[in-house]
Amino acid sequence: MSAKEKEKLSFDPDFLRNKYREERDKRLKFEGNDQYVEVKGDFSYFVEDPYIQEKITRDPEENTYHTVIIGGGFGGVLSGARLREQGINDFRIIEKGGDFGGTWYWNRYPGASCDIESYIYFPMLEETNFIPRRKYTDAAETLDYFNILSEKFTLKENALFQTEVNEVQWLANEDLWLIKTNRQDSIKARYVIHANGFLNRPKLPAMKGINDYAGHTFHTSRWDYEYTGGDSNGELNNLKDKTVAIIGTGATAVQCVPHLAAGAKKLYVFQRTPSSIDERNNTNTDIDWFNSQKVGWQDERRENFEGFLTGNFTSKDLVNDGWTEIFRTILGGLIKNGPSKVTILGWVVTAPFYQDFYRVGLKEFIRNKFMKFVTRKDINHKVEIVDFEKMEKVRARADKLVSDPKTAESLKPYYRQLCKRPCFHDEYLQAFNNNNVELIDTDGQGVKEISTKGIIHDGKEYAVDCIIFASGFEVGTDYSRRCGYQISGIEGITLSDKWKDGLATFHGIHSKGFPNSFFYGPGQGPMTANFTHSLDEQSSHVAYILKQLDEKNLKYVEASSEAESEWINTIVAKARNMQSFQEACTPGYYNNEGKPNTNPQNNTYGGGALEYFKLLKDWRKSNNLQGLKTY
Ligand code: NDP
Repeated sequence: MSAKEKEKLSFDPDFLRNKYREERDKRLKFEGNDQYVEVKGDFSYFVEDPYIQEKITRDPEENTYHTVIIGGGFGGVLSGARLREQGINDFRIIEKGGDFGGTWYWNRYPGASCDIESYIYFPMLEETNFIPRRKYTDAAETLDYFNILSEKFTLKENALFQTEVNEVQWLANEDLWLIKTNRQDSIKARYVIHANGFLNRPKLPAMKGINDYAGHTFHTSRWDYEYTGGDSNGELNNLKDKTVAIIGTGATAVQCVPHLAAGAKKLYVFQRTPSSIDERNNTNTDIDWFNSQKVGWQDERRENFEGFLTGNFTSKDLVNDGWTEIFRTILGGLIKNGPSKVTILGWVVTAPFYQDFYRVGLKEFIRNKFMKFVTRKDINHKVEIVDFEKMEKVRARADKLVSDPKTAESLKPYYRQLCKRPCFHDEYLQAFNNNNVELIDTDGQGVKEISTKGIIHDGKEYAVDCIIFASGFEVGTDYSRRCGYQISGIEGITLSDKWKDGLATFHGIHSKGFPNSFFYGPGQGPMTANFTHSLDEQSSHVAYILKQLDEKNLKYVEASSEAESEWINTIVAKARNMQSFQEACTPGYYNNEGKPNTNPQNNTYGGGALEYFKLLKDWRKSNNLQGLKTY
């Protein structure tokens, strides 16, 4: 970069580059995912269900169903709804929680809300006629919406709640699956839909003395309202004489810290890495606007949002929020800085992270407007500069909103925007202005030791009445471990064995050797910030397949070897070349705790979610179950 170009910037890119590297290096841990402990054995109380009003007693079940759906979150409920729409009613939904809700059943911590716009996040809004109260919904409304969906599709009568699947086993002589549960059920089903969710297994930092702590403790996904008082709207009145520590400052902590700050006598926030916090700007729903939407509006809006995240900037930004702004900003920055000498091909093939996001829109944009030759290095550099600009704005927010300059500095994220999940919140940073709130910045080291009384950091003991773990969920560990059950397919081969050297699926949904099974989301499927969108597409797709099988009087469906190999090749061919970007990132679950995935087979579909959804739609149109072995 020339000295003249540098002069135009309000920051020093060399300084930031070094700073990002330093901050990453502080956090790189040899242990990767092993720095966390699994919530089992001595730690299993961290996953007990605090929300059950009454423990269900019932006899074990031994029925046989057309379909068993494992999981009662959005994936499971949408599957049930789509099956009903296809006239398939002989199904069971097995859910470990006391009700539907999945991630929303568990994550009802104070302030829990969704920063994906409610008009696109709540699926089936046109079918239910439900009007979300605000642009961004909260836990209570989301759980209400689960009730609306389950009533509309009469799903409760099909559900087994408070029931945990232990084992799923293929019975070759019957062409059925056997599903065993912690309630001694031995349920059989022709088809099984694994709707287990993505972030469902809480994890804890493996800290010295973690089991010695004598005070109260829980994970954010099992909030103990009996102890704190209040509910997901806050009002944690029982904490007014309590000193509380929260460990972790990810998207969950960002939402509950303001409520803890308001409720607790004293709050210590133990931070390893600050999140990037941009504004959220929640607003009430304009009912007239909502009611004036034309048939098909929700699909259009979801696709418009996804389009912005995958680089299609040609239409109006309907959602127009922090998510779409990130992508518009980077494009805007590119325009402002002016492209110099890259061909669009160079851009598409080489831009480290954004190649997929920009594949469609930017290609057209650059081709139409500039038609110049630019080098790969040049375009990478421009993307980096606009990323710096965006993150400088995020960092400036901390200076603007936090009165103590040292605390403000500690709260600034020094990494590229998409190294970690972006957060959007209008009260989090301000919470550190409360006199009762203290940020304990561990400077990338994290909490390493707990005593009987509290947390030990830097030679000091912070005695607390309660430690709350906002330490996140397992990602990147074995799929079956995260599900909580093993799946044994044809000839007893387990799914863990089959996938030990890399995922192998057809469409991310079927896996050879595991007939009549359908998976949502272990990988090789779509990647989108609006997770319910992909669950909706995938559950409709699976319901279509099941209907086809019934209509054709078929009872067996399995990915063919050829289709599976071809899909793996597609995943590898379209894989984003993210390794160098991820290696430069500060560790977190986006880059497998600093050990980026090097197996291209384990990627999501690199063509973007919209391309994936279209691919499924075209496949359905051909109406011949191509790639699937059936009889
Ligand atoms: P995360 O994994 O994002 O955050 C865990 C936090 O714990 C990080 O800040 C991590 O620090 C910290 N941590 C881990 N070990 C230690 C330690 N030893 N000492 C101190 N800190 C430690 O989990 P969350 O529950 O916050 O969020 C998980 C995901 O859930 C989000 O990324 C998002 O996808 C989803 N979510 C979505 C929301 C929405 O609005 N749609 C709201 C909330 C969550 P470090 O960063 O250094 O690893």
